[in-house]
Amino acid sequence: MHKNFKGIEKTVFGRGSFNQLDDILTPHRSENQGYFVFLVDNYFKGKELESRVPAGHDDLVYFISVEEHEPTTEQIDTLRDEILDRKGLPSGVVGIGGGSIMDIAKALSLMLTNEGSSTRYQGLNLIKKPGVYHVGVPTISGTGAEVSMTAVLTGPEKKLGLKCEWTVFNQIVLDPDLIATVPTDWWFYTGMDTYIHCIESENGQFNNAYSHAFAEQALKLCREIYLGENAGQTPENDEKLMVASLMGGLSLTYSEVGVCHALSYGLSKILGTRHCYANCLIMNHLDDYYPKGAAEFRKMVRHFNVTLPQGLSKDWDDETLTKMAEVSYNLPHMWNHAIGYDWPKTITIEGLKDLFRRL
Ligand code: NAD
Ligand code: ZN
Repeated sequence: MHKNFKGIEKTVFGRGSFNQLDDILTPHRSENQGYFVFLVDNYFKGKELESRVPAGHDDLVYFISVEEHEPTTEQIDTLRDEILDRKGLPSGVVGIGGGSIMDIAKALSLMLTNEGSSTRYQGLNLIKKPGVYHVGVPTISGTGAEVSMTAVLTGPEKKLGLKCEWTVFNQIVLDPDLIATVPTDWWFYTGMDTYIHCIESENGQFNNAYSHAFAEQALKLCREIYLGENAGQTPENDEKLMVASLMGGLSLTYSEVGVCHALSYGLSKILGTRHCYANCLIMNHLDDYYPKGAAEFRKMVRHFNVTLPQGLSKDWDDETLTKMAEVSYNLPHMWNHAIGYDWPKTITIEGLKDLFRRL
């Protein structure tokens, strides 16, 4: 079976395109109870962007802090209940922020129309009804959450996305000016997430001409941004990074991620390490699987004087290592891609624990 992927319906790209958001939303304002919900990363509270959010009198604006934890099922359920209680079903949801806010906006859109707790829908195609119209406005680039068909949520039992066609945004607004304020360390980690998406998408059995075309272009852009003559956090590179993030996301959607993401999920689930940072910590030690990718990754690390801590695993006891390895092991789609369908012959819990011990 070949993948039949639903893409984003509409994309606007370019500096200053955020100013078009009001016009974009207007035709949808007559739907449902006729108001919009804006979910804005708390970083923008009191910043210039706050005054540019095109919220009318009837709209609800939530500033959400993503510092303490990644999006949770409980957070989505509570928000959904509160919104429905206050004003009924909105015309749509707009997320303005990084990967965390993208996921919150996608998940909220779905949970506004699907009954019960979001924990019931963690997995593939478990959602019963389409969500409300939803728009993504990324303010950090790299995770590809703006284009993916999943909204990753951490629940009491698992960290797993609400994954289905209806998760995909109806509209995204890619305004490279919005990522100008990203701190350099985050700019590096999230950009490396894109780089790693491409390396993993390319190196595995599900890679194909379609996913390869996106990965090739995204890698070229990453190399210009992080190693090129004009490497660094510049307006031109912000444009490139926004496009690279999108293309890296498309590449992995049509192929798959691999060893780095499988391990990174284990680290994030058990220790709460942030996705992009976790990937960087792990890619540093994956020469056995991605020799060229790991070497080039370290070149970029050196180029930007990024310090990746070593010796982390000395603080992890056997139980912690086992739990992390189990989370990683239980991602067969990634191992199928990276190693092949006979991966259980070579990938074992003990072997994964050894990989974590390298960190
Ligand atoms: P994030 O959304 O967690 O934000 C990281 C930090 O950057 C936060 O402190 C935020 O306040 C700040 N920030 C955001 N925009 C800023 C700006 N313009 N200027 C200054 N600071 C800004 O970051 P992320 O790495 O993009 O997202 C990580 C999340 O994405 C995780 O929850 C992960 O699970 C999820 N994810 C989802 C997918 C998907 O396909 N759905 C893929 C990968 C990761
Ligand atoms: Zn990733």
